[in-house]
Amino acid sequence: MIKVTIWNEFRHEKEDAGVKAIYPDGIHGFIADFLRSDDIEVTLAALDDPDCGLPDEVLNNTDVLMWWGHCCHHLVPDALVEKIKNRVFNFGMGFIPMHSAHMSKPFRAIVGTSGNLLWGDEQKEIIWNIKPSHPIAEGVPEHIIIEKEEMYGEPFMIPEPDELVFSSWFEHGNIFRSGCCFYRGLGRIFYFQPGHESCRSFYDPNVQRILKNAVHWAAPLAKAERYPSSCDYYGKLV
Ligand code: ZN
Repeated sequence: MIKVTIWNEFRHEKEDAGVKAIYPDGIHGFIADFLRSDDIEVTLAALDDPDCGLPDEVLNNTDVLMWWGHCCHHLVPDALVEKIKNRVFNFGMGFIPMHSAHMSKPFRAIVGTSGNLLWGDEQKEIIWNIKPSHPIAEGVPEHIIIEKEEMYGEPFMIPEPDELVFSSWFEHGNIFRSGCCFYRGLGRIFYFQPGHESCRSFYDPNVQRILKNAVHWAAPLAKAERYPSSCDYYGKLV
């Protein structure tokens, strides 16, 4: 059983009637509905929950942390960001930042760059599956057409991804690395670009499939608790 925690800023859905109509239970609630399955257990967390929804007992019990944030990145405490980074680096927790989480504090702290990019209005996007042999691309067609998504374009200020699984074309001519894998310490990170709050990209069955695949890919391979004390001073396994 993979324990997934979906963290959402959860402000647009309360303040904007148009967004609320698309995601009445929040983006995190919507994602939870299609992720929950025999082998995925979901916990919801939001910025306005006590401890930002991520007290130690939740964070330390999370195999994969998914993250959606947009206008409140600055309200996430630095101490929490350090804890998240530590869970990824030293315990192998998976991390899946989605859409505008490219500017979130945890993503920037984990990959080590600003996460800045070019952005523009909503338009048609084609997501190309450029690494079909990758586990995150399993069962995903050669391309996915999203009729309306906020344009994200290059240059995207990230380190060179360890694996680039999806790359996108936008109607007005921009291109973007839309599905990027990174390995940091013991952890795996997958950044995925679709998911603007006023668009319906999370309704797309292929987007859902990609996120489900990503959860399986990012889950730690072994019980994380083992790692920090797994070797003694001479490197002998204990
Ligand atoms: Zn957006």
